Formats: sequence, C-alpha cells, structure tokens
Amino acid sequence: MPKVKTSRVRYPEGWELIEPTLRELQAKMREAENDPHDGKRKCEALWPIFKIEHQKSRYIFDLYHRRKEISKELYEFCLDQRYADKNLIAKWKKPGYERLCCLRCIQPRDHNFGTTCACRVPKHLREEKVIECVHCGCRGCASGD
Ligand SMILES: [Zn+2]
Ligand SMILES: [Zn+2]
Repeated sequence: MPKVKTSRVRYPEGWELIEPTLRELQAKMREAENDPHDGKRKCEALWPIFKIEHQKSRYIFDLYHRRKEISKELYEFCLDQRYADKNLIAKWKKPGYERLCCLRCIQPRDHNFGTTCACRVPKHLREEKVIECVHCGCRGCASGD
C-alpha cells in the first residue's frame, strides 16, 4: 500500500528545493535499515544508518547556518519533522564539536575507558593513525583533524 501523503503538514516555502535531497537520503536510510546484516558485526550494521543521519543533519545545518539558503521557518520545520537531529546540531555550534559524528560518541557511559570515544581524540594525540569507532564507524571527528 502506498503511503498517503498527509495534507495536515504545511510545507514552508523553499521545501521543494531541499525535498529531493532529503527524499534521497531517506531512501538510502530505508535501504540501510533493510539490509540483511549477515557476516557483519552487529554494531557495524548500524554504521550506515548513523552516517546517513549525520548527512541529513549536516545538509540542513549547512543550508541554514553556513550557506544561508533556507529560511528560519524551513529550518525549524526540518528539525520539527526530524529531518535533522536537533541535539546533534546543537553540539555542532559548540567549539570543539563542529565535526562531531553522532551523540553516542560523547556519552561517557557508552565507553569502556574514560569519557569520550576514540574518534573524538585528535589524530596527533592517539597512537593508532587509522581508527573506526565501534559506535558509528567514525574515523575521527575531533575539530582540527
Ligand atoms: Zn566520531
Ligand atoms: Zn566514535
């Protein structure tokens, strides 16, 4: 059954410009979610999903905060409709978190050692040069890397 587009949602002006990109990312997300995970470690199966989440939020964030191509109304609409992750974007505005990959990587309880995920450690401070964190497969997201 095709999903019926609800007419209750009122799309702000400019929506038609960003809709194709968002739809494309949503489709990719669905694909990643339905992907049979055979052979992959359980955590690895989630990586593409985190990555696409990140991409969507980054897209909206850049359009509004950097490129200033969308209105505040449209920006807030995207946050409300969860096309972008409000909490993640809030972090990107803080110094040192501009490139943060996902919220899990800064939650102390999720880590065996200390307070942050390996991917948050700047390249020049860590022993291994190439890493992939277990949470989202991030290869390093410290500011300045
Ligand atoms: Zn990271
Ligand atoms: Zn991480």
